Formats: sequence, C-alpha cells, structure tokens
Amino acid sequence: MGRYPTPTRGAIAGSLLLTGLLAAGCAQNGDVRPTAALAADPAATGSIGPAAKPVTGGWGGESGATGHPAMAADAIRAAAANFPACIAGLWPEAARHGISRASFAAHTAQLTPDLGIMDRLDRQPEFTKSFWDYLDMLVTEARTKRGREILAEHRPVFDAVERQYGVDRHVIAAIWGIESNFGRSAGDRPVLRSTATLACVGRRQAYFRDEFLAALEILHRGDLKPEQLKGSWAGAFGPTQFMPTSFKRHAVDFDGDGRRDVVGSIPDLIASTANNLHRGGWQSGETWGYEVVLPKGFDHLLADRARQMTIREWQRHGIRRAGGKAFPRGEDTGYLLVPAGAHGPAFVMLRNFRAIMKYNPSEAYALAIGHLADRMRGGEPFMQPWPRHERVLSRSERLEMQQHLSRMGYDVGEPDGRLGAKTRTALRAFQQRAGKVPDGFASASVLNSLRRL
Ligand code: CA
Repeated sequence: MGRYPTPTRGAIAGSLLLTGLLAAGCAQNGDVRPTAALAADPAATGSIGPAAKPVTGGWGGESGATGHPAMAADAIRAAAANFPACIAGLWPEAARHGISRASFAAHTAQLTPDLGIMDRLDRQPEFTKSFWDYLDMLVTEARTKRGREILAEHRPVFDAVERQYGVDRHVIAAIWGIESNFGRSAGDRPVLRSTATLACVGRRQAYFRDEFLAALEILHRGDLKPEQLKGSWAGAFGPTQFMPTSFKRHAVDFDGDGRRDVVGSIPDLIASTANNLHRGGWQSGETWGYEVVLPKGFDHLLADRARQMTIREWQRHGIRRAGGKAFPRGEDTGYLLVPAGAHGPAFVMLRNFRAIMKYNPSEAYALAIGHLADRMRGGEPFMQPWPRHERVLSRSERLEMQQHLSRMGYDVGEPDGRLGAKTRTALRAFQQRAGKVPDGFASASVLNSLRRL
C-alpha cells in the first residue's frame, strides 16, 4: 500500500481528488450495460462470461511507465483479446463466493475491458504536490462549514453510530468530505467493469481478482444496484469510497432494510465507514495525534515511523504540544512525523492516525482527515508555518538525487524517482555526514549540494 505503485485507496484517493477538482469529465468508452435484463438468458446458452468483442479505445496504446512486463503494449493487447476467456475462467472462484451461475452470466455477459485504466495504472506524474498544498486543497473553510452542516443534519445517525462503534463522528464526516465533497458518489466508472479489466489486464491482476469477485458478490446479493456501483478507475465507490473487498468485510446494514447500501442510505454509509475505522483499530475517546514543537538541537533521527514512544518519553526528549496545552494522556504511544523537514511543523501520531492510514495509506491524507475533523470541531489551524518557499522536487530530480546518493555509496535500492524508506534513510545519512540537520526532507538545496559533490 505504498504511495502509488500498489493500487489501494492511497492511489485511488489521489486520482479521484484530481478527477473531482479538475472536473476532468473523462469520457467513458464503450459503456457497459451490466443489468440482467440486457444480458442473454444464461440458461439458454452453453457458454458463460462475456462474448468476444473487438477491443475499443480509451487507451493510449503505449507501454506502461513502470516497465512491468504485463504493462508492455503487446501484453496489454494480448490480455485484452483474452478478456472473455479470462472472465469466464473466474467462474469456479465466483461459485465458491456463493454467486449463482445465472447471476455470473447476467452480470458478465456485456463486459468489455476498459483499457483507459491502463494509462492510469502506470501513471507516474512528473510533478507532485507538496504536503502543504495537499492540505490546503483538502482542508478548506468551505469543506469545514459543509461538514458542520452535515453533522447537524444527520445528528441522530451520528449519535447512534458513535455509540455503537466509538469512532469520532468528525473523522467520519472528514472522510466523507474529502472523498466525495459530501456527495453521493465519486467517479462514474462501473466498478464491475473496472475491476474486471484490472483482474485480467495489467500488472495487478491477483489483487483485482478479489476486488472483481467482491464486486460481483455485491451485485449478486443485491446490496447495491449496478447503476449505484460506480466509482474510480480502481474500483472505489460511494461517498466514502469503499473498495469492494473492504465493503465486503466492513459494510453494515444500519437502517435495517436488509441491504448494505453505502451509496443510497446515509445510516448505512456513516455506520459502514465507522465500522471500517473501528476494525482498523480506532481507539474510542482518543484523537489522531498532536501538533508538537521540537526543542532546539533536536535529534531528527528520532522522527521515524518505526520509532514509537509514549507521550511522556517524547516529553523527555523536549517535545511540547504546540500552543502550550497539556497532553491529555502521557501513556499514549505515537511516532514523530516531520513531513516538511526541520523548518516545518511536527506531529506526534497516535494509534488512530494509523487507523486512518489503514483506510488510505498516505500520511498526507491521514493528516488532512485528522485536521479537517479538528476544524469541524472548532479547532484552530496549525500553529507552525510550512516552509512554503521550498519547492517539491520533480520526479526526474528525485531520480537524480537517488543516483547521486547511490553513486556516493548510499543504498537507495533501485532508483525509481520515489521517496521510499530507503531513500529517506540514505538522505538522512548524507545530511548527517554533510553536517546538516538529518530531517530526510528532499529539498532543492539538498539536491544542489549533492550535485556539487
Ligand atoms: Ca440498509
């Protein structure tokens, strides 16, 4: 579940947010009509699965940027040609998921691959947002205000859900607000088609086979209707962007009508999202973390996700809560996150931060959720400024930085332009040797000093 290469909610949220913000209005090619009414009568035919059809457009026709063999243009073409056989081959597994043959036949008869997804799957943007730009984009006055309205409008539901699952209602509202701007849905690609495509074409087939089967199960059980089951290119659907398998594990029927309808039923939506966090380890009555102030001369090597300490221990290292308030509990355990280096704010992240990250494995996302929740509750903006003069390195600059570090003998793994754990560790080691603060922040000035060596 890394920042991008694993197509889980982190990647999905990013792509969705962009889709929403830019109102991209991507054309849907070759619309699927996945209703039983439109499918051939399965009992009357000997075969099962989609009929062979020529593959239609939507895909640029180029090999993927990752260089993965399954993303080579020829491999994509071959997999697309084999799509009907691939889907039909999933029938035995679908049967083990309790899906009837008639249902399988009806829902898959009209499926064609949506190859436009292949361009998304291997997208490696040259420019990425800074932590602060990302937060500015997600935590806005408008979203805070709308969140308070939503909380007031559905107060009885939030009351009941909070009683049952113990998850802070503001966090649920923040997820809803950030995933879909409090909408009913986000994304308009049929989830069954997207997951079927990814289950049969490209480099993540094993992962998406489960998502496809779970999507099929949702339709078979009638929790959602096909026209409701629409979402992002990677199959996340509904106002809080459930993945099909996550829906399967965590969705609940809170309004008692027999369907787990996280798209059309506000009680089901709120309770299912709360249950997701509850099962992800949410600690009732605790917050996600605190903005903190580091003392002068602080050892930045301690700011490492692997280094968990109690608040009391962090205090012994000189850490104070921003704004001078006391920490409510000294025995809470957390790690120190310094996302923009020594000249930006710092945070101690508690267990609930990790529960949010299970929902979407991105620290920037989880901090945005936590902060938006606090703002809805009436909390203040962060007290320490972000280093807004800093420029986020482009992908090619990050690659160059890795090559310099590698040339100097630091282990960065295979240079890939991404700032993973190895690169950060190497960067810190370099910073320390160069007599700089080892905060692991990939700034333009670090790149410049590497270039000079
Ligand atoms: Ca229901």
